[in-house]
Amino acid sequence: MPETDESGQPILKKSGKNKGEPKTRKVYVNGDSVARINALFETAIQISDYRDKLLTILPEGYTVKNMAVQVISRDGGLMVSAMRGIEEKAPLVPVNGISGHWIRKYLGRKRNLLLSALDKDYAPKCRRRETWEGRKCAGYCEVSEICATLN
Ligand code: SF4
Repeated sequence: MPETDESGQPILKKSGKNKGEPKTRKVYVNGDSVARINALFETAIQISDYRDKLLTILPEGYTVKNMAVQVISRDGGLMVSAMRGIEEKAPLVPVNGISGHWIRKYLGRKRNLLLSALDKDYAPKCRRRETWEGRKCAGYCEVSEICATLN
């Protein structure tokens, strides 16, 4: 999707072999299944774990057939959002569940890594996927300054 400035005009590339052409960026759209799965992966892990916890306290016979998260768009309703394909302010987004077996394995590994880190007073850095491709380190992580000093 073409990137636009505050007034909705396309931003053009200033250098490189495609100089003068509109800049584009990846936008996660419902129909793009690969982008959608990547974008929702961490969410799917979290709510699949909630599903499994819920199933342990529900009376026998109850099941979870569908799961969804409500995503609140920070700039929802603004014209610039609509121009970038964000039309709803707080849509319900369906999430595919992950098997309980995989969730237990994954979270068990995370628990072991945490215990090991507490033991050694050192934690390995996040995987690139977990840092939202570096955006979390750059602008949202509260320990990024300390983290940058570690190998
Ligand atoms: S700065 Fe934060 S998000 Fe980035 S790798 Fe370090 S701990 Fe993870």
